[in-house]
Parts: sequence; C-alpha cells; structure tokens
Amino acid sequence: MTHTASLDDAMEQKNLLEQYKRIIEINQELGTTYDHVSLLRKIVFAAKELLDTEVASILLLDNATGKLHFAMSTNIKPHEMEEITIPLEGSIAGWIFTHGEPRVIANAANDPNWNKGVDKEIDFVTRNILGVPMRTHKDVIGVVQAINKKHNRDFTDNDIVTLRTLASQAAMAIENARLFQQSDFIAELVHELRTPLAALKTSTTLLKRSDLPETKRGDIVETMRGETERLINLTNEFLDVARHESGRISLNAQSFAIKKLLTEAVDIVAQQAADKGVIINIAEEDYTVIVDRDKIKQVLLNLLTNAIKYNRENGTINLLLEVIEGEEQTMLQITVQDSGFGIAREHQKNMFQKFYRVPTLENVARGTGLGLVLCKNIIEAHGGRIWLESEVNVGSKFFITVPLAD
Ligand code: ADP
Repeated sequence: MTHTASLDDAMEQKNLLEQYKRIIEINQELGTTYDHVSLLRKIVFAAKELLDTEVASILLLDNATGKLHFAMSTNIKPHEMEEITIPLEGSIAGWIFTHGEPRVIANAANDPNWNKGVDKEIDFVTRNILGVPMRTHKDVIGVVQAINKKHNRDFTDNDIVTLRTLASQAAMAIENARLFQQSDFIAELVHELRTPLAALKTSTTLLKRSDLPETKRGDIVETMRGETERLINLTNEFLDVARHESGRISLNAQSFAIKKLLTEAVDIVAQQAADKGVIINIAEEDYTVIVDRDKIKQVLLNLLTNAIKYNRENGTINLLLEVIEGEEQTMLQITVQDSGFGIAREHQKNMFQKFYRVPTLENVARGTGLGLVLCKNIIEAHGGRIWLESEVNVGSKFFITVPLAD
C-alpha cells in the first residue's frame, strides 16, 4: 500500500512539474509574440495533455451573432469551426459564459443544458466536461473546455486550477491581439482620412480652372460637400469610439416609454427614407425602458440610417419589440429589420470591427465603418447585446437589447 501511495505521489509530483513547465513556457510566449493563433493552439494542447482528456477547445463570444464559436480546438478543423455556433442559452458553454463560473459535468447526456448538436456535427461522443470562463480584466470573453477525461476518471480540483490558469493565459493572448489591433486604429484613421482629403484637393484644383464649364461647378461643390461631411462624421465617430474605449462612457439613465423615442428617431430619418421610397413601420406595443435616452437615440439613428442606406428602392423597414426574460434582468429586444441587400455570411463576423465596410456595398452609400462599433459600445455599456441576422438580397435584422424598467 505504502509503496503504491508513494508511486502515486511521485507520479503526481512529476505531473505537477510538467504542468508548471508548460504553463511557464506559455507565459514567456505571451509577452513576446503577436501570433495569438499559435498561442491558442498551444494552450488547447496543453489543456488536453495536462488534464489527460481526449479533446480541449476555446470558445469565444462572437459579438455579431451573440453566440459562442470555436476559436481553437484540438479535434475540430478550422473550416468545421467556422460552421459551428453555440447559443448562450441551452448549452453548457453558454451557462459557464453567462455565470462566469467553472463547471464540471460528470455525465453530459444527463445534463439539461447539454447541446448534442455539436457532437453530431463532428461525429464525437461527449461523456464528461470541465469548462471554465475566460476573463479579461473587464469581462468574460469566452470559455475553455476540456472534454472526456481518459481512463474513465473524474475531473479533480487540480484540473480546475490548471484549466483556469490556461484560460487566463488564453484571455491574455486574445487581449494582446486586440490591443495590437487598437494601435492600428490611429493608422487606419489616417488612411481613411486620405480619401476624402484627396477628393477635396482635386475638387479645389478643378474649381480654380478658368475653362471649367459653369454647369460642372455645381457637381464639384456637391462632391466637396459630401466629402466634408464624411470627414466630419469620421472625426466625430472616431472621437466617440476612442472615448468609449478608454472607459469614459458615462450613462445618464432615465426611465421613459420607448415608443416616443422610436417615433422621434424615425421622424429624423423620414426625409432620407422618403427620398428612396422606403416605408418604416413601428411596432404597436409600448414599453418603459431605463436607458440613456440620447445614446440609445444615437444607436437607433445609426441602425435606421443603415437600414435606409443599404435598402432597395421602395423597400421597407420594421421596428419590432419583444420582451426577453433574462436570469438577471428583463430586457427589451428592439429589432431593426430591412428589406435590403443583406450581408453575406463571410462578412457578418466583421460587422462590428472598426472601419469595416462590406466590400460589395462600399459604393452603395457613403459611410465610415464606425457606426456599428459605436452602437456596440453604447449597448454593451447598458448591459445589453447587439447582433445581426442577414440574408443576401432578402435583408438584414439588427437586434439590440436594453434594460426594461421594473
Ligand atoms: P457605415 O458608416 O459604413 O454605414 P457602419 O459601421 O454603420 O458604417 O456599418 C458598417 C458596414 O456594415 C457598412 O458599411 C455596410 O457595409 C454594412 N451594413 C451596415 N448595416 C447594414 C444593413 N442594414 N444592410 C446591409 N449592410 C449593412
């Protein structure tokens, strides 16, 4: 007996040493590489080996769809990962994400939250699961899961500690990658400023030409007006986004009836809609929300303007309301549905990235590619979510949730 115990102890010691070694290796790389993809790969393989499981995966919240998707996995191929999404409700990973707590599931098939769809898609049998949330200094961004502990064993407390450490490293790798993108923000702004500035320069040169037909002057002045407006929007939206991202988003929440605000926003865009023959329908119901009125108005205006800009001639827009019972708070879901060009699936995941504009729609309307980023910042500051569903040539639905008053 004593002999076996000391053998087990020795194994445990060796195991612990191996764990420290791997974790320190990953830590060293965290500070020195920008290649977060290969780091995430190392992290899932470390999780699989150190916890002695069949597979391990990292899931991240996709802000565009409001669902979790695989960012890295030891057994799912990249093209398969693209296809699989996991809802926050009715899934174990979703539970871990929304509760922000680790969870051990001894028998997945018996768990009411278990989503067997993924097993089916990748031809896998899940028995037991250990999942932990991935946290940055601000919030939960995803979940790390280790699945099927080998030799029919159960997960231990030590496994939880190890996976938590790996999850915080994964969160740091993602945060580093995002910060790196942030420093590109200014460079991209400068790049974006160059196009309207070049157009303005050309226009002024043309205007000075004495041989310019009088009839052309009006067109050139109109171009200058449009480009100046774009510059103003770009700089204003850039400042707003920069302010939000440095944590200076302050909310002045008050409770009021949403319908009046919807009507006000629709009135502002009415002329723009009428010019295109677009009809806007507002939901019949009314609810009292508790939000920063001006900021939510800004979000609605952005979504409505997009729904007009990227709509077809004589299209429609529906503003729909639905109450969503949450575990912590009841939210009002506002949907802005248009009958426009729609957004292809491959572009949908980029929709909330700064300066992103769908390449095929770039010439359809003027824009900055910052409007949706602003919407996301404002909605998330209210504890809500923003996401979309879209189908090419059918239209898009943008959803936001905001807190309802009690
Ligand atoms: P922009 O100022 O370019 O409109 P946004 O951030 O509001 O910036 O939107 C980013 C991009 O998303 C747009 O350029 C457009 O390509 C696409 N988009 C936004 N809303 C819609 C919509 N309702 N239908 C189709 N595409 C849309």
